[in-house]
Order: sequence, then C-alpha cells, then structure tokens
Amino acid sequence: MGRVAVVTGGTRGIGAAIAKALKGAGYQVVAGYAGNDAAAEAFSQANNIPVRKWDVSSFEECSAHLAAIEKDLGPVEVLVNNAGITRDAMFHKMTLEQWQAVMGTNLNGLFNMTRPVWDGMRARGFGRIINISSINGQKGQMGQANYSAAKAGDIGFSKALALEGAKKGITVNTICPGYINTDMMATIPEEVMQKQILAHIPVGRLGEPEEIARCVVFLASDDAGFITGSTITANGGQYLA
Ligand code: NDP
Repeated sequence: MGRVAVVTGGTRGIGAAIAKALKGAGYQVVAGYAGNDAAAEAFSQANNIPVRKWDVSSFEECSAHLAAIEKDLGPVEVLVNNAGITRDAMFHKMTLEQWQAVMGTNLNGLFNMTRPVWDGMRARGFGRIINISSINGQKGQMGQANYSAAKAGDIGFSKALALEGAKKGITVNTICPGYINTDMMATIPEEVMQKQILAHIPVGRLGEPEEIARCVVFLASDDAGFITGSTITANGGQYLA
C-alpha cells in the first residue's frame, strides 16, 4: 500500500486536484473539508477517495481525525495543509471576527494539523509537509491584511519547521499560488478580474488547480528529499510584473 497522505480542504478547488493527483501517484489519500457535504460527497464518489469533515481551526478536531486516520490506514507520512478561507475587508472596516476566522483556518490550522503528526514523523525518520500559502502572503494585498498576514505566517512556519525536521528526514515546503481558477475566484467581479488580475499576470491566464497539484506530488516524492524550507511560486510570472 502507498503512503498515507492527508489533504485539508481536499474536496474542492486546489485541494481536490492535489488529492486526485496524490491518489494517481499511488498514495492512500484522505481529504478533509469543513462543511460543504454535497461537494465532499460528490468528490468522494467520483474519485473513490475517503473524505472526513472537521475544522482545521480546532486542535481537538484535528487531533481526533488524524488519530482515526492513522488507526484506519497507518501513519500519516504526507500532510498537505491546503484548507483556506478569505474574509476580505479594508482594514478600517475589518472586524475582529474576520481577522480571527482567517487566522484560525489559514495559520492556526497549520499548527493544529502538523503538531499531531510531527512526533510520529520524527520517530519514523520520514515526513513530507507541504503548506499552501499565497502570492498575497509574499507581497501583501489591499483588503487582505488578515489573509496576507496568515499566509506570510505559513511561510515562516514552514522555514522554521524545515530546520527542525531536516535531520529527521522531514521536509517542509511552501507553495505560493498566484490566481488559480477555483471557487475562491468566483467571488471576484469580472471587471476586477480583467483589469486588476489578468492584466498583471504575464502568462495572461489564471492557473489551473492541477498545476499546483503536480508540484505537490513532486515535493511529496522521494526525489524531492533535498528540497526543504523552499517557497515555490506558481503564479504565471505575476510576482515579476
Ligand atoms: P476553495 O474555496 O475552492 O476550497 C477550500 C477548501 O478548504 C474546501 O474543501 C473547504 O471545505 C476547506 N476548508 C475551508 N475552511 C476550512 C476549515 N476551517 N477546516 C477544514 N477545511 C476547510 O479554495 P481554493 O482551492 O481556491 O484554495 C485552496 C488553498 O489555496 C487555500 O489555502 C487558499 O488560500 C490558497 N490559494 C488559493 C488561490 C486561488 O486563486 N484560488 C491563490 C493562492 C492561494 P468546504 O468545501 O466544506 O467549504
């Protein structure tokens, strides 16, 4: 049997593409989600991938589901921290609730998911942790003080853990997607999409979730053992423009 891989937010968008790609590469994949049962059920049936509902902002829920997965399938050797949300507002209008929701899922979620699997990875001498951050954590974005802060935090978290895991066979890397064609983008008005987004992406299009997924599959593989603490940009050149 292949290694066990857990993908948070693995039932829609980028995470669904990651879960499918890892399954295609031979991993035993479990996909997590927060509340959209219909999407999760459809994803699970279409791809024959088990799904579980828990909130990554809860340490207790993460610990309980990871323990159950390890009991069912064996040790989690690949963890993809992909679950993420936006609660955009200009800072002068941002509420504490918007700040805390984004921090809870996008930053605390990484601690909550990684801490329960870390000791086992250290003991076995192997682990792959791949964190999905964002270009907006690298460069900041208007209306996203919460999201940019959390996503920048993901990068710092990955680098510190990469150092701690290096002698234990654990690699920790971050992927920073640019704009990817998912439900998260569906909330953006067409005029903003054309004038403020596509106009600034040198390749002239959104990325596809599968383009991030292929990167994850490589980072999870034995071939990527020398890559750790990296921040990989996948943004169609946007960061250069
Ligand atoms: P989607 O909105 O399409 O899907 C989000 C997934 O995360 C869903 O499966 C959702 O579950 C799950 N989720 C959300 N909150 C929680 C939570 N608290 N606990 C557990 N699961 C949760 O997102 P994308 O695919 O667009 O984004 C995936 C990641 O990539 C995110 O971290 C995002 O910030 C990042 N990213 C996305 C970009 C883009 O252009 N799309 C650009 C750069 C980064 P449910 O279906 O139940 O709601």
